[in-house]
Amino acid sequence: MSEKHLAGKVALITGASRGIGAAIAKRFAAEGAKVVVNYARSEKEANAVVAGITAAGGSAIAVKADVGKPQEIPGLFTATIKAFGKLDILVNNAAIMQRTFLTEVTAESIDAHFGVNVRGYLLCAKHAAELMTSGGSIINVGSAISRMAYPGAVVYTATKGAIDVMTRVLAAELGPKGIRANVLAPGSTRTDMNSEKSGKTKEEEQQEIALTALRRIGEPEDIVGAAVFLASDEARWVTGAWIDVSGGIRL
Ligand code: NAP
Repeated sequence: MSEKHLAGKVALITGASRGIGAAIAKRFAAEGAKVVVNYARSEKEANAVVAGITAAGGSAIAVKADVGKPQEIPGLFTATIKAFGKLDILVNNAAIMQRTFLTEVTAESIDAHFGVNVRGYLLCAKHAAELMTSGGSIINVGSAISRMAYPGAVVYTATKGAIDVMTRVLAAELGPKGIRANVLAPGSTRTDMNSEKSGKTKEEEQQEIALTALRRIGEPEDIVGAAVFLASDEARWVTGAWIDVSGGIRL
């Protein structure tokens, strides 16, 4: 039997009801972690992720909390400790992306993006760091977009740039406690956030494929191997890093 890379660990993944977060939750459980599947709205989907993990012999619970609402964040961590007794891995993954050109930017759209994608990440990291001991791993899901100039995504890109710099500060602050912090940066990945549902056209998809060295759009499952690595003790000497998981977009 092959080794399970996350055996004995407890992982909390924000925004794990759908897309990349759901794929990470399922794979972490298959790698032996006990998993907290956070969601804000998609209860049915979160319960389906948990049911799939449980049916495969893993351990998981679903916990509702909107990470854009600071008052809902502490309960997420209380529920984690109540169910599993500790926390080893936090994946800050829940984020929002509205397509916004500068002419359409409003104070409300800036606050909404930063409230989930930056404040939510930081407050979750704060709670996690209080609970973690040496060996803890914080994975902030950023985006390859922070190293591009992508028209129509100025606010979202600003949040992802903030994640890049704040992760390096977290790595420096938490390193002495033995806690690591890294950015996992997907490229164009087929999820609700990045599909016709979010206003993406077939033409834009073709342009992104042409800009990607491996010549296709990523699937959520393409992202999870790097997440397992960053969460595991195999990455014990990796902190403050920015890992590109984009198939080589705009190299
Ligand atoms: P998605 O398909 O839109 O899924 C987003 C997930 O986050 C859902 O489970 C959603 O749950 C949850 N969520 C949203 N707002 C939340 C909140 N306030 N509190 C708690 N959960 C919340 O997105 P995705 O494409 O999988 O993206 C996941 C991460 O990858 C994000 O950080 C995104 O920026 C990043 N990323 C994505 C791409 C891409 O091409 N897809 C590329 C680069 C980076 P509910 O439905 O329950 O609200």
